[in-house]
Amino acid sequence: MNMKKIAILGSTGSIGRQALAVVDAFPERFQVVSLAAGSNVQLLADQAKKYHPQIVSIGNGEKAKELAALLQGESCEIVVGQEGSELAATHEDVDMVLAAISGIAGLLPVVAAIKAGKDIAFANKEVLVAAGQLVMDLVREHQVQLLPVDSEHSAVWQCLSGGCREVESILLTASGGPFRNFTKEQLAHVRAADALKHPTWSMGDKITIDSATLMNKGFEVIEAHWLFGMPYEKIKAVIHPQSVIHSMVQFVDGAILAQLGPTDMRLAIQYAFTYPERWENALERVDFSALGELTFATPDTKRFPCLSMAIEAGKQGATYPVVLNGANEALVGLFLQDKISFLDIPKMVARTLEAHNSMANPTLADILACDQWARAFVQEQLACIIR
Ligand code: NDP
Repeated sequence: MNMKKIAILGSTGSIGRQALAVVDAFPERFQVVSLAAGSNVQLLADQAKKYHPQIVSIGNGEKAKELAALLQGESCEIVVGQEGSELAATHEDVDMVLAAISGIAGLLPVVAAIKAGKDIAFANKEVLVAAGQLVMDLVREHQVQLLPVDSEHSAVWQCLSGGCREVESILLTASGGPFRNFTKEQLAHVRAADALKHPTWSMGDKITIDSATLMNKGFEVIEAHWLFGMPYEKIKAVIHPQSVIHSMVQFVDGAILAQLGPTDMRLAIQYAFTYPERWENALERVDFSALGELTFATPDTKRFPCLSMAIEAGKQGATYPVVLNGANEALVGLFLQDKISFLDIPKMVARTLEAHNSMANPTLADILACDQWARAFVQEQLACIIR
């Protein structure tokens, strides 16, 4: 049996760790060729000792020295930073790259992997938000597969297995986050620790905050637009607090196909790794007798304006989504440090978008420059934020 050889970018994160759990479940079918992480030296060293990759990448030279000390006697090559992630992604033995770095930091490694002809199991949604056109053009040019890992997109992909024709709409489900029922007054006082208590999914900090603001759902609408070539008008978000239905596709005759499953990202990761096959696993099954009710609602974009802002930026295209993402990443970082309030996030994202002079058909350099501009703009405006 052929081993599938995998690069895991973001191996120390929530998705990366769950991907390694999928590898653990099928040790005779997956081989880890490379691992890339940012700062968690100890966990990366533990992973390297367990999976014996040929190459490991860590965020900077200082961390690399610590890593080398922990990996004495191991034969793997240690590489560093952005270039290191790219080397991990493009190693000649790699068949598939799991893109699970958080944020725009994953853009260049994903671009390098596509150019090297690697198929991608794709979680790092900010890459498609910021550079959707450029990435999809490269995917077509290099004839690689971009296989969704995000649970909603995995669900849509599975529902579309009969093809993308005759689709009336894509219905992306959203838990609504921990503040779904909060008033605007209550939202003004929530802190990072409250926002990190996601009701149904256990994820990294940044995406958990994005889920609370509904920016994550807006990003997912943009991601679905690029992954499935669907116009924005046909992609809708539906609040479904139980997160049992991962997403749905409605066809032109009114029929709806839905994908359901446990709230466990290993299912979506495994499907991207094994596609077009499905492999038997020991993950939990949905127990309908214990489920109770499934409920649905329309998102409230007055209380959660990030959703409509993201969709609007997606529709406007050009460099608006880059700026949306860059500003949001900077603001979520500040919110996680309790330096700004929850409601400052949409307010400042809107202000950054308003101030932006958009560029049509951006190159990779333009995208990176606009991302930097958005972050710098947020920093400049920080002084105006009143907590
Ligand atoms: P985490 O914050 O848990 O993990 C992020 C990973 O990226 C860590 O391994 C981190 O390393 C690494 N990383 C961060 N910056 C760099 C960098 N500059 N160079 C190399 N590695 C870096 O995030 P998640 O796993 O939750 O999410 C990852 C991506 O997947 C995001 O884009 C998210 O939107 C998407 N996603 C996540 C889901 C989830 O359930 N978690 C669901 C659907 C999509 P270190 O920790 O060592 O610094």
